[in-house]
Amino acid sequence: MSQQGLESYRRPTGRFGRDFRYFREVGSTNDVALAAARSGAAEGLVVIADRQSKGRGRLQRRWEAPVGSSLLMSLLFRPPDPFAYFAERITMVCGLSLVLAVGAVTGVAARLKWPNDLIHEAVDAPGDWLKLAGMLSEVVLSDAGQPVALVVGLGVNVNVAAGDLPDLAPNAGSLSVLTGAEVSRVDLLDMFLGETESRYADLLCGVDPVPAWREQLAWLGRPVVVHAADGIIQGIAEDIDAEGALVLRLPGGGTRRFLAGDVSLRPIGC
Ligand code: ADP
Repeated sequence: MSQQGLESYRRPTGRFGRDFRYFREVGSTNDVALAAARSGAAEGLVVIADRQSKGRGRLQRRWEAPVGSSLLMSLLFRPPDPFAYFAERITMVCGLSLVLAVGAVTGVAARLKWPNDLIHEAVDAPGDWLKLAGMLSEVVLSDAGQPVALVVGLGVNVNVAAGDLPDLAPNAGSLSVLTGAEVSRVDLLDMFLGETESRYADLLCGVDPVPAWREQLAWLGRPVVVHAADGIIQGIAEDIDAEGALVLRLPGGGTRRFLAGDVSLRPIGC
């Protein structure tokens, strides 16, 4: 296991991480990467911090992380056209790469919680889950309003001690709690960047990551509740459609689609 600190991490070969910007503290790594993108930074920039004072999730929710415990990072992509097609799949590539890197470095069997979280589910208690990481993708627009870059932010609970996130109990978990040992953030970062780089190269060569991503999704075919703007809706998580929307089978028959931006998903224990 690497004992190296994040501040001295280097990735001299490859596209992602060659421009590596470490900060002891920032507001949010996404904000730093978005500003860098607007100033012309190249694809592959990685921004990382040991502390975020304004870490955020979707819908301006807060992302909490004790200092030095986590991987708080943002990656800059400059996808080709059609931008929306690639942007959606880049977020999937990052989620998939995180599942694989976590498995390879820690042995933890993590899965993806649609649309953008990494979770671990207890084998003996379906519905009993811990959130290990969250992802937030944000688009940079040109002055003319055209999308020109995508920033994918990830907050991964690596060495967060049990009880360090009391407000988020009982659903926040960490890799060190699951493995019972400290996990090298450098090893995890290095594996994640390598996976992302090769899967992104595949995507640019025409490989669609949707089937592999779908395989890693938790709770498909299972009873779930969707917390939507108009209330809490129960059903079976039937599928994810071609646009990445959740298709919920309703108890009275019929289905309803939910777009990722608007809703939160939870399982119903059985
Ligand atoms: P969801 O997809 O579950 O609705 P978001 O993607 O919006 O959640 O992420 C933000 C939410 O994640 C916060 O409201 C909080 O409940 C939770 N959260 C914040 N920090 C952490 C953390 N370090 N570990 C696990 N969960 C967190």
